[in-house]
Amino acid sequence: MTKPLGAIPAGFSAGDDGVLSIGGRSVHELVAEAGDTPLFVYDLGLIDERIARFRRAIPGVELHYAIKANTYTPLLAHVAKHVDGLDVASGGELGSALASGMAPGLISFAGPGKRDKELRSAIQVGVTINCESEGEAERALSIGGAEGVAPKLAVRVNPDFEIKGSGMRMGGGAKPFGVDAERVPALVRRIVAGGGDWRGFHIFAGSQALDAAALIEAQRATLELAGALSAEIGAAPPMVNLGGGFGIPYFHGETPLDIEAVGRALALELSNRHENLVNTEFAIELGRWVVGEAGVYLTRIVDRKVSHGKTFLVTDGGMHHQLAASGNFGQVIRRNYPAAIASRMAQPATEEASIVGCLCTPLDRLADDVMLPRADVGDIVAVFMAGAYGLSASPQAFLGQQAALEMAVGTGI
Ligand SMILES: *Cc1c(COP(=O)(O)O)cnc(C)c1O
Repeated sequence: MTKPLGAIPAGFSAGDDGVLSIGGRSVHELVAEAGDTPLFVYDLGLIDERIARFRRAIPGVELHYAIKANTYTPLLAHVAKHVDGLDVASGGELGSALASGMAPGLISFAGPGKRDKELRSAIQVGVTINCESEGEAERALSIGGAEGVAPKLAVRVNPDFEIKGSGMRMGGGAKPFGVDAERVPALVRRIVAGGGDWRGFHIFAGSQALDAAALIEAQRATLELAGALSAEIGAAPPMVNLGGGFGIPYFHGETPLDIEAVGRALALELSNRHENLVNTEFAIELGRWVVGEAGVYLTRIVDRKVSHGKTFLVTDGGMHHQLAASGNFGQVIRRNYPAAIASRMAQPATEEASIVGCLCTPLDRLADDVMLPRADVGDIVAVFMAGAYGLSASPQAFLGQQAALEMAVGTGI
């Protein structure tokens, strides 16, 4: 049975020759310049448009980029110039963030399992550590003591609520992330008494939400929680990181998030915030919403074959570069990402085919049972929504296939 593809995101079109262009340049030209396929192309101009849209929709709230979505060096250096902070989740990401040119004071470091040497590097340069547990906070305090600096410590709160796909669930429950809300006041007092520079709260309630109402409710609950915690502590947090969770529409039938509605509701909530939060700075941390739609994965068809009446277009790419498009990165039911035959954008979809990767495993599927123009060996396939959790979240070493190339296009702001 034919299955639908996701909708191609805005900002991509075919040139007069019917070939997909990215950042105003034909994919043939881009592949020739890169020298080979598979190739990720990131359009920095589209990223700039996203950042500008965030600024218009949610003025007065800082935008932080969660770099685990995409750490390609030129992309990260570009994004770092246009956002207010970077959020990292490992010592390796900390190194990338520092190399991007972002001031250390504007970097925060979350994530469980931070090792002493990672804490030390962060504390030495003045990066804020989002403490994931009491034990981690103690280690950071003693490293700060040994280094002779007051470590900048925020507390990641495990909230009693969670944003889920569409709607908000109460009862966040047991998690390896953050400190349960009721233990946060005691930890903040301990940080202050132990010589730490308490920076505030980090409250992250979920990811990939497309429903504005669910996000609005989560942000309302987050502000309420931050107000209640600061009242109990009796001190004002310098910064509250409100989390993020802004989703992008990967699959057929999904609709983009109305961030303008989110911004209007947040402005209202902020105007009524708890008195302890009057001088607090607020941040939203986003990964996929900033960069996800700006990336395209290009892979070439190396074989065309038929099995039991079904046509397979076999490419030189696959799940080792674009795990999420194969359906193996957190999806319960596999659905098709947006994809197209980039070299035949103007031709009608006349045949049903499946696009697969070159890995010797049935997991390696890029598009299942979709209608496409008739494509052949040498044609270029584009898989969209490849700007976030593409290469940074894929098992590139699996099966020893060729590494993917990456390229940034677009002049930017
Ligand atoms: C992964 C992560 C993000 C980014 O998530 P997106 O869905 O890409 O926006 C933000 N904050 C934290 C704490 C994360 O772990």
